[in-house]
Amino acid sequence: MQTFSTRELERIAERAARHLKRADAILIGAGAGMGVDSGLPDFRGENGFWKAYPPFRGRKYSEVTSPTMLDENPEQAWGFFSHCMVMYRNTAPHKGYETLLEWTKKHFENYFVFTSNIDGHFAKTGFDSELIYEIHGNTHYLQCGRGLECSREIWQAGDLNLRVDEETMRALDDLPRCRLCGYMARPNILMFGDRAFNPLRTVDQEYLYKKWRRKNELACIVAIEFGAGEAVPTVRYECQRLGRPLIRVNPVDYKADYDSVSFPANAAVAIDLLNQYL
Ligand SMILES: [Zn+2]
Repeated sequence: MQTFSTRELERIAERAARHLKRADAILIGAGAGMGVDSGLPDFRGENGFWKAYPPFRGRKYSEVTSPTMLDENPEQAWGFFSHCMVMYRNTAPHKGYETLLEWTKKHFENYFVFTSNIDGHFAKTGFDSELIYEIHGNTHYLQCGRGLECSREIWQAGDLNLRVDEETMRALDDLPRCRLCGYMARPNILMFGDRAFNPLRTVDQEYLYKKWRRKNELACIVAIEFGAGEAVPTVRYECQRLGRPLIRVNPVDYKADYDSVSFPANAAVAIDLLNQYL
């Protein structure tokens, strides 16, 4: 892997800051890499999901967080969900989030957050919830396992924290239930091969996002993308499509088109550097 000197990174930051300063609007894109700097695991990363969770040996993250797993082994699926919820709840978003939020107050009020992360960390930092589009949902919300077949309801998970057997990752407490029909509840996150996802919260966010895009149709939107990998490229596509230019911050998959800014760094490092030039 190519390494970059501090001077090189500073030059990149300076160029990126120039674009951010002249932008009419900013699209903030975020993928798993944004959370890694807060100490959260990247489940799709190279390190292998099950190395962190030995009970899931031989299985991928996508297999554990799947409707099939919920049907076939609900205690274990919920053991993992509850573990993640508690981890996201108890982890403080890294300092970069706070700095970004300051920028939106000082330098660009006209912004929108587009993220594939389900940790709710933008809202936790204080970003306006009406300016966040969580394309894969948010793990701090629950829905009926039957999806829209039951109802439109989505409710907050609150301080839900099931006891989990660490050896087997199985939940020891009763699993959360839908308060309308009594069927098992589940997180309101879009899983792989998911037909029961209740999209209504996400659709509301999408509506606001599209409205923002229409409002800024003729504006110069600069997109700044943090830690969005190629495995699930939705965030990358959106930032690339809208960004004039795109600023791609990523320690590994940083390469972007020639007229974009490739910023080979972690999100927290890049934000810190950019802050010197904004
Ligand atoms: Zn129900």
